[in-house]
Amino acid sequence: MTANQNHTPLPTGNDITLPWHLRLPKPLEKDFRLYFRASVAKVMPWALALVAFLIVSAMFIESRISPDVLNMSWRPRLFTLMLTGGCLVLIRKPQWRNWLHEATLVLAFAIALTGNYLGAIVEHPLAYTFFFHTPLAILMICILIRVPFYAALISSVVMIGCMIFSLQLSSGRQPFEPSTLVLVSLAFTSMSLFGQYVYERLLRQHFLSEHVLFQHRNELHSANLVLENQATVDGMTGCINRRGMESRLSHLYHKLNQNNPDAPERITLMLFDIDFFKQYNDTYGHPAGDECLKKVAGVPLGMVQSDTDFVARYGGEEFVITLTDSSFNDALVFAERMRNRVEQLGLPHSGSRVSQVVTISVGVACSDGTAEDGAQLLKMADEALYQAKGAGRNRVAMMSNQGVVEMLN
Ligand code: GH3
Ligand code: MG
Ligand code: MG
Repeated sequence: MTANQNHTPLPTGNDITLPWHLRLPKPLEKDFRLYFRASVAKVMPWALALVAFLIVSAMFIESRISPDVLNMSWRPRLFTLMLTGGCLVLIRKPQWRNWLHEATLVLAFAIALTGNYLGAIVEHPLAYTFFFHTPLAILMICILIRVPFYAALISSVVMIGCMIFSLQLSSGRQPFEPSTLVLVSLAFTSMSLFGQYVYERLLRQHFLSEHVLFQHRNELHSANLVLENQATVDGMTGCINRRGMESRLSHLYHKLNQNNPDAPERITLMLFDIDFFKQYNDTYGHPAGDECLKKVAGVPLGMVQSDTDFVARYGGEEFVITLTDSSFNDALVFAERMRNRVEQLGLPHSGSRVSQVVTISVGVACSDGTAEDGAQLLKMADEALYQAKGAGRNRVAMMSNQGVVEMLN
């Protein structure tokens, strides 16, 4: 990677230009709809309450101006009021939220058609005002309740069409020219649709910015995980490296010293070292030595089960195994079994002075003893390992609670 590539700024949401028709690529479009619904869901109850209030106010005004008109209009008005109430109740239930926009459109159609119906049948100067229900309903779906721009556009065209039809039915009874009414409605409609278009454009741009930010955050998180893994894992054997081991061990000891509720009851640490490994390298070569290391490391890796237990490569051909909550006796059984399994691998080692095959020596120490921290526990295990080497190798030695090294075999 060149220096220039390293400094390429990350793209932002503004770098993605929205086409005039606002459509995003398919998967993004689907996510945007969910985002749109979620943003609308917050204001929807208030908007519906306002619609209900307007319907009740209209009925009240009609009753004051002309009870005759109210006589004719209360049934369809009550129907739209019930529809509004129904929507209000339903959208409070999460499982119905998905139908938010459809419910809004049904309601808007009901309001506009009620107005057109009343305008067509009511013989009263007030009847003229009913036709304003169409632009009001369009305004409602665009500004008050918000449905996606294309739904708003299509339903507006349908509503204006219905209005023209109703005006035809009631021609001659209107104090104004139907064409004036249609022109006023068209002006209203185009203004509210334009507002809806601008709003949705901004919302989509905002959604894109958030989407890009989310992607960057995810990429950064995965990169961090990879780096963290690389920093604490030994690339050759797959064990934790020394740095990772020290940090885990100090974390365990910290919990132990703090009497943390999820702290282990005890920590047992074993340190093992391959016997006469220098000679192995001398006899079979360094690459074969590496292969041997991988196979030997695979033995404890295959034996450790709990999430809190771990195998670490402490140094060249020295490994640490940490067990939590195993009794000291269980840990000794583990160490002996591990020593035995390495021997059973049967990796020929003609340079060894203790066996025909590769063997290991193990030192075991437990936090039940005098160790106050991970470093001290490690020192105790190292002391036991040293004694195991001195006692002839291919064996397990342990540091007892009294600080005395004893051979297991
Ligand atoms: P002892 O039984 O006393 O442990 O004898 P030893 O020969 O194993 O002595 P020591 O543990 O000091 O030897 C370490 C050797 O391990 C030295 C080095 O050549 C070898 N070694 C360390 N790291 C690696 C590695 O990554 N690959 C290979 N092939 N050899 C390694
Ligand atoms: Mg060594
Ligand atoms: Mg060695």
